[in-house]
Amino acid sequence: TATTHRYVYAFAEGDKDQKDLLGGKGAGLAEMTNLGLPVPPGFTITTEACRRYLATGDDPPGLAEEVDAHLARLEAERGKRLGDPGDPLLVSVRSGAKFSMPGMMDTVLDIGLNDRSVRGLAAAGGERFAWDSYRRLIQMFGATVLGVEAEAFHAALEEAKRCNGAERDLDLDAAALRDLVAVYKGIVQDATGIDFPQDPREQLDMAVRAVFDSWNTDRARVYRRRERIPEHLGTAVNVMAMVYGNLGPDSGTGVAFTRDPATGAPGVYGDYLAEAQGEDVVAGVRTPIPLAELGRTDPASYAELRRTMAMLEERYRDLCDIEFTIEHGRLWMLQTRIGKRTAAAAFRIALQLVDEGRISVEEALGRVTGDQLAQLMFPQFDPEAKPEPIAFGVPASPGAAVGAAVFDAAAAERFEGPAILVRRETSPDDLAGIIAAAGVLTSRGGKTSHAAVVARGMGKTCVVGADDLRIDAVRRQFTAPGGVLVREGDPVSIDGATGAVYAGAIPVAPPPVVEYFEGRLTREQRRSDPVVQAVARMMRYADERRHLGVHANADTPEDAARARRFGADGIGLCRTEHMFLGERRRIIERLVTAGTDREREAALAELLPLQLGDFTGIFAAMDGLPVTIRLLDPPLHEFLPDLTELSVKVALAEARGDADPADVRLLAAVRRLHEQNPMLGLRGVRLGLAVPGLAAVQVRAIAMAAAARIKAGSDPRPEIMVPLIGGVEEFELMRAEITRVLEETAAETGVRVAAEIGTMIELPRAALTAGRIAEHAAFFSFGTNDLTQTTWGFSRDDVESSFFPVYLAKGVFADSPFEVLDEEGVGRLVATAVEQGRAVNRDLTVGVCGEHGGDPASVRFFDRVGLDYVSCSPFRVPVARLEAGRAAV
Ligand code: ADP
Ligand code: MG
Ligand code: MG
Repeated sequence: TATTHRYVYAFAEGDKDQKDLLGGKGAGLAEMTNLGLPVPPGFTITTEACRRYLATGDDPPGLAEEVDAHLARLEAERGKRLGDPGDPLLVSVRSGAKFSMPGMMDTVLDIGLNDRSVRGLAAAGGERFAWDSYRRLIQMFGATVLGVEAEAFHAALEEAKRCNGAERDLDLDAAALRDLVAVYKGIVQDATGIDFPQDPREQLDMAVRAVFDSWNTDRARVYRRRERIPEHLGTAVNVMAMVYGNLGPDSGTGVAFTRDPATGAPGVYGDYLAEAQGEDVVAGVRTPIPLAELGRTDPASYAELRRTMAMLEERYRDLCDIEFTIEHGRLWMLQTRIGKRTAAAAFRIALQLVDEGRISVEEALGRVTGDQLAQLMFPQFDPEAKPEPIAFGVPASPGAAVGAAVFDAAAAERFEGPAILVRRETSPDDLAGIIAAAGVLTSRGGKTSHAAVVARGMGKTCVVGADDLRIDAVRRQFTAPGGVLVREGDPVSIDGATGAVYAGAIPVAPPPVVEYFEGRLTREQRRSDPVVQAVARMMRYADERRHLGVHANADTPEDAARARRFGADGIGLCRTEHMFLGERRRIIERLVTAGTDREREAALAELLPLQLGDFTGIFAAMDGLPVTIRLLDPPLHEFLPDLTELSVKVALAEARGDADPADVRLLAAVRRLHEQNPMLGLRGVRLGLAVPGLAAVQVRAIAMAAAARIKAGSDPRPEIMVPLIGGVEEFELMRAEITRVLEETAAETGVRVAAEIGTMIELPRAALTAGRIAEHAAFFSFGTNDLTQTTWGFSRDDVESSFFPVYLAKGVFADSPFEVLDEEGVGRLVATAVEQGRAVNRDLTVGVCGEHGGDPASVRFFDRVGLDYVSCSPFRVPVARLEAGRAAV
C-alpha cells in the first residue's frame, strides 16, 4: 500500500522540536502559536516536500491540494481571500531550513497584490501604504523568483527619490510609488520578457518553488560548507498572513534579543524601525533606533514585547532572537529561535542561566565550546598604543582586526594578506568577501544587520553603522571627518568590542582572558571583567568534571612555565631536536663524520653538558609533574648541510684544487645519510639503534639533570619516550640500553632516578601489536600526526597544498585528517592499541601528543576511548581543559 505523505502543517500542529521537518522558522512559529502568542496565522510546507522537489524538479504529488486546503483555512480565519480585489489577504512566503542561514535564502512579502487588489488594499489601509507594498512585492518577487538583477530596482528607487526630491524612501508619496510600480513592471518585462504575474495563486506557487530552489544557490552552498550544514537537508517554506509595519508612524518592525548577543550583558536589546517592513531593518536601509526607545514611543507594545520575550526564554531556556512587527500599535510575533552570539556572550549567558536556575552546570558546559574559548584568547588592540579613532560605529562582533581596506567582496577574495571589507551595508552576495576578510566595516545598519549577524556567527570582527564615514565604492575609498582619506589598500584597524575605527595598523596585545591565564591580572581586575570571571568559573567547572588530564607539548623552560600557568598537568611531549640546532650542528657534524670511537665519544661528550642544561630548566618549570622526553626523532641529515649546496661547494673547491678534507668527509656523510623518503627513513628509534652512543648521551643528560634536582630537594618526574617503534623488539633493545645508562648514572651520582620508560605509538604496526609492546612499556603516547600519515600513506608536508583542496571540495574529507582525527581509520588503531595495551598491563598510562590533542572534536574521541591525557601546545591547554570537561558531562 502506498504511504500517504503529508507535506503541509498548520502552525498550530507543530512545536519547537520539529526542526527536521518544519525547519527552524516553522518550528519556532509553531511553538509561539501554541504558547498563545500573537502570531499571524499560516502553515509550513515541510523540508521533505523540498527534498522531493529538488530530487525530481517537480512538486511532489498531492502538494497542491494540501496547499489549497490550508490556504482555504487561512482565508476563512482572516475573513479575506488571497488577492481579493475588494480587500485582499496578502501572505509572505518564507524560507526556513533546520539550521538558520541568515539572509542566505529567499523570502517574498506581500504576495497576492496585483493591479486590481492594490486598489482594495488602498481602500483598507491608504494609497501610499498600498503602492509601497506593491512596489516591494515586485521588487522582491522580481529579484528572488524571476531572477532580475536586484540592482535594477535599487537604481530605479534611487532615481525616483532623486526626481521627487525625496531624502528617504519614506518621503516618496503615493503617486510617486505608483509611478515606481510602473517602472518596476517595465524592468521585469525587459529582463524576463514576461509581465509581472497577476494571478495571486500563481504568485504563491512560483514563490514556493523559488524558495525550494534557493537551497541550491551558490551563496547558500558556500555558507553551508563553511558552517558544516549538511547539503541534503533542504528547506521548509512558511506561508503566513501579512501584518503591516508600513501602515504609518504607529507601525513598524524590529528585531530583538532577550540578552545582548555581543557582550552577553543581561537585559533586552534590539533595533526598531517605524514605518517599515521586515527586510528594512536587516538590510540596513535606514539606521534603526534602539529597542529601549520603543518603550517611550509605544509603551504598551513594548511591555507586551518584554513579557513575550521573557516567556520565550523560559521556554527555550536560552537566549532567544526574535522578529516582530507592530501594526497600528498591535504587536505581532514573526519569528523566534535560539540566538547566535559571540564567544564572550556564550560564556556569560550560560552562567547567568545557571544562576537563574534555568540550566544545570553540565548544560552550561554544553553551551560553550573550545573554539569559542580560543576566540577569547585572540589578540586585541594594545591599550598602551592609545590610538585616535577616526570614527565610531556599532560594535557588532568583537576582536581586533587590522588589514588593507577593500571595497567589494571580489577585492577581499583577491587580496593577499588580511583585508578589511568596507561597505555601506552588506548583502548576502558579500558572503564570500566576508569569509575572506579579516574584518567587516559598514557605514549603515545596526547590530542586527546582515553584516553583523553573519560576522558574529563566524567569529569575525565587525563594526557596523559607522555613519560618519563617506564610503565611495566606485572610487574605492572612504573619508572620515577631519579630512581623513583611506584608499583601497591603505591599512585600517577596527575594534569590534568598542566600535572604534582607526586609520593605519594599530598594534595588538593579548586579551584579558590570556592575561588571566598568565596570572597577570590583579584580583580587582579579575572581578571587574565579566568575561574573565565567566571563563574562570567555567574552567573550574570543567576541571572539576574532566576525566582527561591535559599535558603540554613544550621543549623549552619558557614554554613549560607558560603551560603550567595555563593549567597543564605535565609535559606530554618534550622534543629534543631543537637542542641539536644552531651552534650545536657542528657537534652533530663531528658525530656523523667521526672515523674512530675516540672522535665519536669526544663529540658526544661535548653534547652532554648542553643537554643537561636544557633538561634542568624544564624540570624546574615542571617540578612535581611528569615530563615526557622523547629521544631524538627526526632524520639526522636535517641537522647537516644541504646535499646540493655542499656538493657544489666541494666540487668548486676541488676544481680550484683547494678542497677542505673536512668538507669532503662531511659530504660523504651527507650523501650516506641522504634519503628519498626521509619520513620513512633513518629516524626515531632507528637512529637510537643505528648511531652508537646517541641515545645514551640523551638518557645520561636526563638522569644527571634529574639527580642534581633531587639532590637540591626538588621533585623531577622524567619519563623517557622512544619514538617511532614498529615492533616490540625495537623497544626491548632500546629499553635495555636506557636501563643500562640509568643504572650507570645512578652509580656515578649516588641518586637513583626512577624514570618511566615508554613509547610512542605512531605506526600502524605498533598499534596492531600493542599488546606485546605493553608487556614492557610503562606508557603509550599516540603520535597522531605520524599515525595519520602512515595510516593514510601520505605526507603532511606534501599533500596539504596539492590535492587536499580537491579532496575537501569533493567531500573525501569533511576536515583535514591532520586537524580533526580520522576516527574511522586512525581512531580505530588508537582504540585497538588502548584495548590491547590495557588488557596486558592494567597500569599502562595512555595519552596522545599529536596536534589533535588540542582539537575539540578529537578531544571528545580521546575521552571516549579512555585515554588518560591529551597533550597539546601550551596555548591550547585551556581549550583542551574545557573540552575535556565538556566531554565528561
Ligand atoms: P530571513 O530568514 O532572511 O530573516 P524572513 O522569512 O524571516 O527572512 O523574512 C524577512 C523579513 O520579513 C523578516 O523581517 C520578517 O519578520 C518579515 N516578514 C516575514 N513574513 C512576514 C509577514 N507575514 N508579515 C510581516 N512581515 C513579515
Ligand atoms: Mg527572519
Ligand atoms: Mg612522530
